[in-house]
Amino acid sequence: MPKHSSNTLDPRSPLVLDTRDLPRRPGVSRTVERVAPAPADLGVELISVPEGADLDLDLRMTSVSEGVLVTGTVSGPVRGECGRCLREIDDTVTVTVQELYAYEDSTTDATTEEDEVGRLQGDLIDLEPEVRDALVLTLPTNPTCREDCPGLCPDCGTPLDELPADHSHQQIDPRWAGLSQLTRKEE
Ligand SMILES: [Zn+2]
Ligand SMILES: [Zn+2]
Repeated sequence: MPKHSSNTLDPRSPLVLDTRDLPRRPGVSRTVERVAPAPADLGVELISVPEGADLDLDLRMTSVSEGVLVTGTVSGPVRGECGRCLREIDDTVTVTVQELYAYEDSTTDATTEEDEVGRLQGDLIDLEPEVRDALVLTLPTNPTCREDCPGLCPDCGTPLDELPADHSHQQIDPRWAGLSQLTRKEE
């Protein structure tokens, strides 16, 4: 039952690993160091690796009896927006990769699902899903420019850390003053 989508991978694609030079003898390994342009939508809604940015791959492929183990790190720049003050976040992220890719028609191939254990497609490994998953798990869903970012003044929208401690809006209608203090206490 051929469930593989063979021959869809491009061996020249920078996020595809070619194992042809890796002997299928357990324990043999090869290092892969390269820079790959980031594919689109790599990350989460508020913070992601910009498309085309340099992803540094620092990986090792090791033959195991049922396939190829890929371990190492992938790092790259991330850009996003602070969820509290909306300022731009410019950072870097490094994710650890550790994934077994089973040979087609190996016992592992026959006894596991593709979402449990990856698959080689011929001699090729598609690294993109693993890099994508690792990044999505690593990147915060609510990114902040720094841990204690105080956010924006609710009245004028200025970042609070750019304002003096006694910043206030005196022109508030006195009938609302009590209410606005209540709101602030809740925060
Ligand atoms: Zn912030
Ligand atoms: Zn203000």
